[in-house]
Amino acid sequence: MEQIHDPAVLLNEIISAAEKAGAQKIRKLGPVHWDNKEVPLVKILFRSRPENPRILLSAGIHGDEPAGPHSILSLLQRWNDPLLSSLLSRINLDLFPLINPGGFAKKTRQNANGIDLNREFAKGHPAQEVRYLMDDLRYREYAISVEFHEDIDARGFYLYEHFPEYTRPFAPAIIKRLEEEGFTILKDPVIEGMPAENGIIHPGRGRKKSHFRRHGWPKAIYMFRHGTPRTITAETPTMVPLDDRVRMHGITLVTALEELCGRGGSTTPP
Ligand SMILES: [Zn+2]
Repeated sequence: MEQIHDPAVLLNEIISAAEKAGAQKIRKLGPVHWDNKEVPLVKILFRSRPENPRILLSAGIHGDEPAGPHSILSLLQRWNDPLLSSLLSRINLDLFPLINPGGFAKKTRQNANGIDLNREFAKGHPAQEVRYLMDDLRYREYAISVEFHEDIDARGFYLYEHFPEYTRPFAPAIIKRLEEEGFTILKDPVIEGMPAENGIIHPGRGRKKSHFRRHGWPKAIYMFRHGTPRTITAETPTMVPLDDRVRMHGITLVTALEELCGRGGSTTPP
């Protein structure tokens, strides 16, 4: 797919793809301003049956990680593929496609005011974008929260998974599927200062509690602490082509949903 550099253009493409895919609601939580520009922080809702699990999917909290929002666009454009539509009929999905439009425009990790939005989730007065998210997410619990990220320096894919002690992790199935599709996994024993195994980091293990007090909470910790039992943060290597990163994110989501709901329909990965 062709890379889009203007956040307003990308968001319009995402909204139009979501409408075509049959989204029940597209909500504008509030405006994000930078320079003389304004782009809303958008939430998209897909609903099946109320008793089905609720899933949170988000992308674009770091502005220099363009694959995430492009992956959302790609998934929405393929919403009616048999595998995706079969999975989607068994979940309720809340989707934040582009959390940091100002940073996306400037190609910076931080927002246009220089704030890393993924370290704001323990603050009483966080940045505007995070305030919109926290106001929306505070009383919601999801079966799983999946975040699409990228790593500029990494030579391969890796992910973080938080999961309850009494269940099995989903990460090994995701890594296995990515390897079957020929993608490189980062197998360093330490990634981002944390012990890792086969491209999987279980945050919290080997990291002192004071770390998050010092550096601020990322969104995944916020969700975990507010009742979402499982969070997956997928990191694609920015150095490989955009299409590959988009496919890696797609495989991450589909495999996580298959682990959650069981397989159904086709098993051809996206
Ligand atoms: Zn990131």
